[in-house]
Amino acid sequence: MSKIVIVGAGYAGMMAAAHLDREGIPFTIVNNHDYHYLTILLHEAAGGRDDGEKYAIPIKEVLRKDTSELVVAEVTGIDKANRVVKTSTGDISYDYLIYSLGWVSEYFGIKGLKEYSLSITNLDSAIEIRKHIDNQFQLYTQDGDERHLRIALGGAGLTGIELMGELLDYLPKLCKSLNIPWEKVDLQCIEAMPTILPMVAEHLRPFVVETYTKKGGKLRTGTKINEVTEGVIHLDGGETVEAGTIIWTGGVRANPLLSESGFTVDRRGRAKVNEFMQSVDDEVIFIAGDSAWAEDANGRPYPPTAQNAEQMGALAAKNILLRERRRPMEPFHPRDWGTLCSLGAEVGVGSFMGVPIKGVMGALAKEGSKAKYLWELGGMRLAGNRSKYVMKL
Ligand SMILES: Cc1cc2nc3c(=O)[nH]c(=O)nc-3n(C[C@H](O)[C@H](O)[C@H](O)COP(=O)(O)OP(=O)(O)OC[C@H]3O[C@@H](n4cnc5c(N)ncnc54)[C@H](O)[C@@H]3O)c2cc1C
Repeated sequence: MSKIVIVGAGYAGMMAAAHLDREGIPFTIVNNHDYHYLTILLHEAAGGRDDGEKYAIPIKEVLRKDTSELVVAEVTGIDKANRVVKTSTGDISYDYLIYSLGWVSEYFGIKGLKEYSLSITNLDSAIEIRKHIDNQFQLYTQDGDERHLRIALGGAGLTGIELMGELLDYLPKLCKSLNIPWEKVDLQCIEAMPTILPMVAEHLRPFVVETYTKKGGKLRTGTKINEVTEGVIHLDGGETVEAGTIIWTGGVRANPLLSESGFTVDRRGRAKVNEFMQSVDDEVIFIAGDSAWAEDANGRPYPPTAQNAEQMGALAAKNILLRERRRPMEPFHPRDWGTLCSLGAEVGVGSFMGVPIKGVMGALAKEGSKAKYLWELGGMRLAGNRSKYVMKL
């Protein structure tokens, strides 16, 4: 059997690994942590809904057969010519590679944004956000400077809106524990586009605005950030927002290793693949998840979502095995389950299998989607143990 290496243990990498594991096929998976974190729930960790460890599943708890090898290392490059993955702990050769290193924040060239904002890029950075906010609120109790109580989120897409919902649940509790009047807190989300949540049906968006406004949050659309300096957001038109916490959730792009390693990439840095998830630059490399530039039948790139990443990862693994067995590979035709956006722990909004959904049903559907993912990843072993991993049901 050829040597298969997977880089990245996110949604795409873990689904590829789980597929190979189930088939008893040997492979090596390289990741910068020994756990798989649930990226789509990182806003919960940032908002303090649960302890950080609840969002991390030890990789070896999913891949328990001795046919798999886990290498904990930072991937630093892909040498296509020599079929080698370069890592912080040495080179790893491959016959087939599944590349699924995910995404990094996209700052759109806004001056100072990267330097002076926090972002949710992994579990550590999500926990860091919560600690930073806790610390700012503590500082307020010492010096009374109200800037410590101002939180500005940049970007009103899925991540920004979900994070805002968590903070609107968490901050009143934090205020209570520190005897800070809730009215003094300023939580605002700043979005350059004229609307929030473009992936959610237009008629459901007012529900989000209403829910957040009632809880004391502010949503500002059509408001462009020009520059960020330490503790200050400079908006188009000259207005400034001074805030002790600035968090950027406004965009993602693929990990730059792809362009640095000579793959054909789009403007978001994703590497072009054919319908089989095979790199157009090298037939033994399969690219899955947010790193892949895959197009639907109308030539539109698939959006960077966890559900696409999961299906791409599983297909990449399957197609490698089909190719090895000299059988035709299968094209990518993903199933669209819909988009669900949590607005805190109790309420959600979005669609499930084409049906619009909002309120408590939205939150329940989101909880259901967590169980479904755990089931797909590790069957009853993970889903049955769901109280250990982020389940409230
Ligand atoms: C807060 C938040 C909420 C979201 N909500 C949703 C949602 O509700 N629904 C949805 O469909 N999508 C959602 N998304 C998007 C979704 O999380 C991504 O589309 C998905 O994680 C992409 O999967 P992936 O496998 O490509 O990358 P990832 O899941 O990011 O995995 C990449 C893996 O590679 C590792 N890695 C990265 N660089 C290196 C390196 N150099 N060396 C070694 N390892 C490395 C990372 O640690 C990680 O384990 C959300 C994203 C965020 C941040």
